[in-house]
Parts: sequence; C-alpha cells; structure tokens
Amino acid sequence: MPHRHAVILLFAISVAVITGAVSGWFWGAAMLDIAWIGKLFLNALKMMIIPLVVAAVISGVASMGDIRRLERLGGITVLYYLSTTAIAVLIGLLMVNIIQPGAGLNISGGIIPEKVAGKEATGISDIFLSMISPNLIKSAAETKLLPLILFSIFFSAALTTLGAKGKSVLDFFDGVNEAMMKLVTWLMYLAPIGIFALVAGRLGSAGGGEAFWNEIRAVGLHVVTVISGLALHFATLFLILFFVARRGADYLVNMLRALLTAFGTASSSATLPLTLECARENNVDERALKFTIPLGSTINMDGTALYEAAAVMFIAQAYGIDMSIGQQAIIFITATLAAIGAAGIPEAGLVTMVIVLEAVGLPLEGIGLLLAVDWFLDRFRTTVNVWGDAVGAAVVHRFLPDNNKA
Ligand code: ASP
Repeated sequence: MPHRHAVILLFAISVAVITGAVSGWFWGAAMLDIAWIGKLFLNALKMMIIPLVVAAVISGVASMGDIRRLERLGGITVLYYLSTTAIAVLIGLLMVNIIQPGAGLNISGGIIPEKVAGKEATGISDIFLSMISPNLIKSAAETKLLPLILFSIFFSAALTTLGAKGKSVLDFFDGVNEAMMKLVTWLMYLAPIGIFALVAGRLGSAGGGEAFWNEIRAVGLHVVTVISGLALHFATLFLILFFVARRGADYLVNMLRALLTAFGTASSSATLPLTLECARENNVDERALKFTIPLGSTINMDGTALYEAAAVMFIAQAYGIDMSIGQQAIIFITATLAAIGAAGIPEAGLVTMVIVLEAVGLPLEGIGLLLAVDWFLDRFRTTVNVWGDAVGAAVVHRFLPDNNKA
C-alpha cells in the first residue's frame, strides 16, 4: 500500500476507535443496530485467513531453499516465543503480587460460568493433541490454524524435494499468496468503518458507558493490574525490538494499523492478514514473516499468558487462598502452556484458564468474577499478542544468515 494511504488509514482507524468508544459509551444499546457492519468486516477478514496462511507458509518455507535454514529459523522462533512468553508471565505474577488486586474481597462459592462449564477435563495433553488434526478440512472450517500450519510446513518441504513437478505446485501457492495479499490491502480500506462498528457495538451490548463503568469498578484493581502489566510487557518487547532486532519507533508506527485492528476485533487470527501486510511494509524479510507470523498468531500469546497468570492469582486472593512460591511456579508453567493452547479468537484465554486453575486446585467458579470485564481486557491482551508476533518477525529477520551483517 502506498505510504500516503497507509498514513491516512492509520489516522482514520485511530479516529474510528475513539469515536466508536464514545458512541458506544453514550448511545449504548442503540449502537447494536450497527453491530452487523462490524461483523461484516470481521467475516471478510476471517474469509482471508485459511488461503492466506496455507499459501504464505508453503511459499515461505520453500523460499528458504535449504532445509537447514528452516531448522535455524525454527529454533530462533521457538526460543523467542518461549522466552518472551515466560517474561510476560513473570511480569503478570510480579504485578499481581505487588498490587494484590483480590485481597480482602472474601469471595466464596459461586457458579461455574457457562463459557467454561464442561471444559474441566481439558488437560495439557489436549494442547499437544490439537497440533495434529485427523481432518484438515474440519480444522480449516473451525479456523484451527496450528495443524494447518504444521501440515503446510511439511507439505512445502516435500515439494522442494520433487524437482520440476514440485516447482509448479510451489509457483501456484506463490501466486495464491500474492493474490491474497492484494485482497488484504483492498480490505484494509474498510477497516475504519468496520472497527468503528465493532467497538461501538461491543460497548453497546455491555449496556453503554455507565453500566460498563460499574462493572469495571467492581474489579477495578484487577483491571489496573492487567493493563499496567500489559503496558510493561509492551515496553519490554519494544526494548527487544530496539536492542535485538535493531529496529526503531518507525517499526511500531507501521504496525499500528494491525495493533488497532487487534484491539477492535479481539482476535489475533482475524488480525493476521494485516499483521503480515504491515510487517511486509516494514521490510521484514518474506522468509521470516511468512513463517513466524502465522505460527505466532496461534502459539505466541504473551498478552494471554500474562493475563492468565494475573487472573488466576486474583482469583486465589479473592477466595483468600494463599499461593506458595511452588504453586506460583506451577502457575508459571501452566499459564505458558495455556496461552500456547489458546486459539486466536475472542475470549479464548478465559477457557484455557481452566488448565491453570485446576493445576493449582483453585475453584473454577472464580472465573465468574472475571466474566463481565473479560471482553474489555481481551482487547488489550490481543494487541500485545499481535505486537509480540510483529517483534518476533523482526528478530527472526535479523538472524537470517544473510541479513545479520548490519
Ligand atoms: N483474544 C485473544 C487473541 O485472539 C486470545 C485470548 O486471550 O482470549 O489473541
């Protein structure tokens, strides 16, 4: 997209978020009438995901040429994901121990919310099982990206061993990838109106500003803990961008369209087409972005990991249950895994939190405390999730064998 258009669009999307919030705040339920416009935009974004991810990963892996490069790239990517997710959880635990948002609430009992009821049997083995799908079409239909990505990596590797026959299939996927990116740039022009409707409609369904404010106030310190933890992690990622990837503030500015879309949609998967496009405009090497960003959108969720750790500790404090250092270590490990297992869709983190709560024996009923504000905090953590992927692509770019001379 031409630079001038990108600047105008960024301005328009920023205005859309603000005016959307103001309209939803003051006109409340009346905004539900335009919620369908937001849904239309969201559907259009979702429509892009499957062909885009499959074509990007297949053409990206093949363009690496030597399979040993993929090993190196994969190694750096996984190392980056794990270390930044671990930092995020530590920040979450630190904030919750300092602020103590649940202390003195003296909650007992409660009912298990509908959203997580029946999910008690979700375990860590389910996360591994979700990586390989017995039915790729079904995974695609349910936008479960991880099995599709893993399949695409191996499929592409196989194609590179087939000579001329493989080359023609790869050329096909290259073409599909470029056509999809073209569609995404067109779709971006609709983002301001779509995001306006999404933000206004969601606040409208929360009953407008006043009702929403009362809900936030009830768990005010929890909201403060999560948002300040997320802000701290956002800044930490910026430092990684600066010192490790050697990029500056312009990288962040160019990513803002994707970050605001993440805020508007609360879905890293739906934002994925824009994340890819913005990274490309930031001159991230195609080989790095086609591989790391799709994978990151489903397994690298720093915001979700931070949120899960902070929320579980909040529940413990609210129920007056003391968490020892050993139990916090269990929270550290399970929150990381739960974030890897969470899908890039709205409020997925709330469901995988069951894994963390069960690991330390806390009541699932505690999730009820978080329900009313979860959709709101989801937007902040999704923004951090997408920012983590964007920084990851820049880091991987820097370590590609032919890019690290500078
Ligand atoms: N909504 C988040 C995402 O799409 C996942 C979550 O934390 O619920 O990245």
